[in-house]
Amino acid sequence: MSTATIEDRLSSTARSFLTGPKGLLIDGEFRPAADGGLLAVVDPSTGERVTEVAFAGTADVDQAVASARAAFADGRWSALAPIEQSRRLERLAVLVEEHGAELAELETLDVGKPLAQSQWEMGLVADLLRYYAGWCTKIHGDVNPAGTDFLSYTLREPVGVCAGIIPWNFPLVMAAFKVGPALACGNTLILKPAEQTPLTALRFGELCLEAGIPAGVVNVLTGDGETTGNALVEHPGVDKIAFTGSTEVGRKIMVKAAGTLKKVSLELGGKSPSIIFADADLEAAATAAMQGIWTNAGQWCVAGSRLVVEQSIHDTFVDVLVQHSSQLKVGGGFDADSQMGPLISDEQLSRVSSYMEIGREEGAELALGGSRMQRPGYFVEPTVFTGVRNDMRIAQEEIFGPVAAVIPFGGDEEALRIGNGTDYGLAAAVWTRDVSRAHRAARALQAGQIWVNSYGDFDWSTPFGGYKQSGYGRELGKYSLDLYTQMKSVLVRL
Ligand code: NAP
Ligand code: MG
Repeated sequence: MSTATIEDRLSSTARSFLTGPKGLLIDGEFRPAADGGLLAVVDPSTGERVTEVAFAGTADVDQAVASARAAFADGRWSALAPIEQSRRLERLAVLVEEHGAELAELETLDVGKPLAQSQWEMGLVADLLRYYAGWCTKIHGDVNPAGTDFLSYTLREPVGVCAGIIPWNFPLVMAAFKVGPALACGNTLILKPAEQTPLTALRFGELCLEAGIPAGVVNVLTGDGETTGNALVEHPGVDKIAFTGSTEVGRKIMVKAAGTLKKVSLELGGKSPSIIFADADLEAAATAAMQGIWTNAGQWCVAGSRLVVEQSIHDTFVDVLVQHSSQLKVGGGFDADSQMGPLISDEQLSRVSSYMEIGREEGAELALGGSRMQRPGYFVEPTVFTGVRNDMRIAQEEIFGPVAAVIPFGGDEEALRIGNGTDYGLAAAVWTRDVSRAHRAARALQAGQIWVNSYGDFDWSTPFGGYKQSGYGRELGKYSLDLYTQMKSVLVRL
């Protein structure tokens, strides 16, 4: 695709950001990488290179850490009055809203997702920042009942320099998951977006400065995981790693972080089941199942990739699912009627295509899709496999693409056994009109997030995180505060 065609799709503000230099945000300034390294930005809707950003090497990581450490040490953020921290985070939320159209365009260019989806996500980013702006003034310790001889109190203090290492599927939403609570608790932060999606993080860095977040409090390092991410994980000047990404990389980070005993929180992958009982509202369950697996082309941590369906309604359910799903408009992010975009990269395209092949080889039946689409970019068809057994690889492994596995069950016990039958435990949904069965299942399912008669809903006050190999630590709500503060006890003998 020629530059002219890309420019045609973008507003003048997004275009001017794209054509300008895009350095690393270190200490309040945008700078090229020390070694001049560059990272290509590719539009997944076309497979074409659209621009490039700086690639942070270890020397840049050292500088960013030094900047974040100095900013933390002199209290330019942590010692600000909480009401003033709150005001500036709120200002940042407003700036995200004001620049929402431009940010959404950059997100769509980077990820390929439908523009309307990106626009909606920018609203989420603003609200999440606003939610944590409210927390700045409400973080405090306790006075403990230590008897009459003591005054015992606790102080909740920031952890220090945090590194937020995030994936490419919801780039700016994931950034806000880290920036909001880290700053509300008085920390400084280095943000490392995924190599495939650096654009919105950089523009967001500019908005942080505009909002009055002091230089060095938020640094943005674009680069890759093996160089930039790894250097942050190993760096003795980083106190905490907040990671969202794959279980495989999460495991590596935990091992590496042990060297300096960093605090680590991990939001990892999933293979989340939707259990659909015969008494459920079938139309609602099928619609939610579609959103659960086609949203972001299945590239989301809570993708509802296993549809566990009671035998007696199985065929009807599959008919509804396939009929609706076959109407889905797959297209580039800027195509007006696109409902599902491409996969993020060539690598992801090969991975998802190979799972389509594995499903066939394992003997599952294709009820829909199953192939790459014959067009430029990284598009695959929405795919539904039926006749899946829970021990097949397509039921056990995170595909991270629009591939649903439908698994039939007989009774409640079998449904729950299948639901719990993977190494993951991020989310699960139960569809039934029987209140007791719904609550029994909610207790029995080993997942950090249970939905009853819905799928994929989030709320800023409601904790989110994984059981089993889906990670540990809880983000969102007051629970994030535990990840970004440490508790100090003061005992005073009276
Ligand atoms: P990924 O490969 O694990 O990458 C995530 C981030 O880690 C990227 O910024 C990546 O950098 C970086 N990274 C890679 N290797 C690293 C290393 N050795 N040291 C430090 N950092 C390293 O995940 P992904 O493929 O981008 O994203 C998909 C995964 O994220 C899925 O498994 C999905 O389930 C999970 N996810 C989970 C949640 C949740 O909340 N639980 C939310 C969204 C996504 P580069 O990519 O730049 O190399
Ligand atoms: Mg990656």
